[in-house]
Amino acid sequence: MKRRLYIALLLTMPLLPAQTYDVVLTNGRVMDPESGLDAVRNVGIRGRRIAAISSAPLRGHTTVDVHGLVVAPGFIDLHSHGQDDENYRFKAHDGVTTALELEIGVSPVAEWYQAREGKALINFGASSGHVPARMAVMHDTGDFLPRDRAAHDVATDEETLSILNAVRRGLDDGAIGIGLGIAYVPTAPRGEIFRLFQLAGDRRVPVFVHVRSAAPDEPRSEAIPSIQEVIADAAATGSPLHIVHLTSVAARQTPLALQMIEGARKHGVDVTTEMYPYTASATRIESAIYDGDWPARTGNKYSDLQWVATGERLTEETFAKYRKEGGAVIAHTLPEEALLAAIKNPQVMIASDGRLAGGKGHPRSSGTFARVLGLYVREKKVIPLMEAIRRMTLMPALRLESSVPAMHNKGRIKIGADADLVAFDPDRVIDKATFENPAQYSDGIEHVLVGGVFVVRDSHFVPEVFPGAGLRTDRTMKH
Ligand SMILES: [Zn+2]
Repeated sequence: MKRRLYIALLLTMPLLPAQTYDVVLTNGRVMDPESGLDAVRNVGIRGRRIAAISSAPLRGHTTVDVHGLVVAPGFIDLHSHGQDDENYRFKAHDGVTTALELEIGVSPVAEWYQAREGKALINFGASSGHVPARMAVMHDTGDFLPRDRAAHDVATDEETLSILNAVRRGLDDGAIGIGLGIAYVPTAPRGEIFRLFQLAGDRRVPVFVHVRSAAPDEPRSEAIPSIQEVIADAAATGSPLHIVHLTSVAARQTPLALQMIEGARKHGVDVTTEMYPYTASATRIESAIYDGDWPARTGNKYSDLQWVATGERLTEETFAKYRKEGGAVIAHTLPEEALLAAIKNPQVMIASDGRLAGGKGHPRSSGTFARVLGLYVREKKVIPLMEAIRRMTLMPALRLESSVPAMHNKGRIKIGADADLVAFDPDRVIDKATFENPAQYSDGIEHVLVGGVFVVRDSHFVPEVFPGAGLRTDRTMKH
């Protein structure tokens, strides 16, 4: 009886339809920060989704041997100003499958999404931006960041109403929360900022904020009152709060700022933060950051600044000249101890704050994620590999998923999750971008898939594919 059944099974087996996946990644070291899985597995992808994670062989129309590589969820960059083909290409080569412009944000929102739909290499999204709304309403002449009216004038009541309405319209159009670059609009009164928090609280969407710079009459840069302002606003409105690039705003006070954030979280305020792994920041030289006597205010020097167009360090004279022209500047002002304090802290996500234009910019634009994996995980052994992956994938997904439902299926490797994946060589992965030449792809990022489609294969960019999808807040969600 048993023998006959066995023979019958043998006879019918070739007739059964075998499971064939669109893509199979075989023999990779699959690392999933949610389940803790860290083992050699085969990953089967069907359509845009992960359909199998198995130690048994899987059959695929396309099969790629990823033996020796780590297969991780694609990195989610919460702070990515560069939102065009050039930047998406560098992001993909750094393992990023989702790049979001949340700090400054955009306005108007609907047109911004429309311009990228079906044309993007990686997933994209943006917040409804207070800075661009203020620039439009107040007729500021700046490029990306304010340089005159929006930075230096107090808005009239009528203008303030128009700014709030523009930000609200952006949320109606599905923007991912509200972007606030308070440091770039120092004349925006605390009341205007609080009203934006109220709006975010009503909608239960996060506020992403570059906190206020110290007031010109305050000696030395004191990040603490600026962080207190936004934690207080979040506590009073119920708005989730994300403080961007903590090390670049808190500098030497990073350990204290981390205690404030941890304390707020413990006492029920939903606040998170992020960092980039460099000891230099970057911004526009004509922005309000450099208003007035900034060397006295910040304790930084002219020679700390590097002019992006030429790579030269600045003097008081060249600073004045370039400030009139306007353009990107890098500030070598962040202490390494601040960076280490933040990277060791389990509540700090990794995000790039990057933007390249014509191959120029800060190297964080193209090297942030490989730099953490290569320099701070492998070489300096500051944090374990799984922990670094968690800060680049699961944590940003969790930060957004209460308002952006698509995030439930990102940042993890599980059946049904989006096949946004990166396969990298943990022994080789490293950033190549430098301050002198930032337009260099990271090394060791071998394969990157967005929604099951290869965008990087065998370390080479795959041309003419646009699997990137726009990510939005679900406006129908009830809270
Ligand atoms: Zn910023």
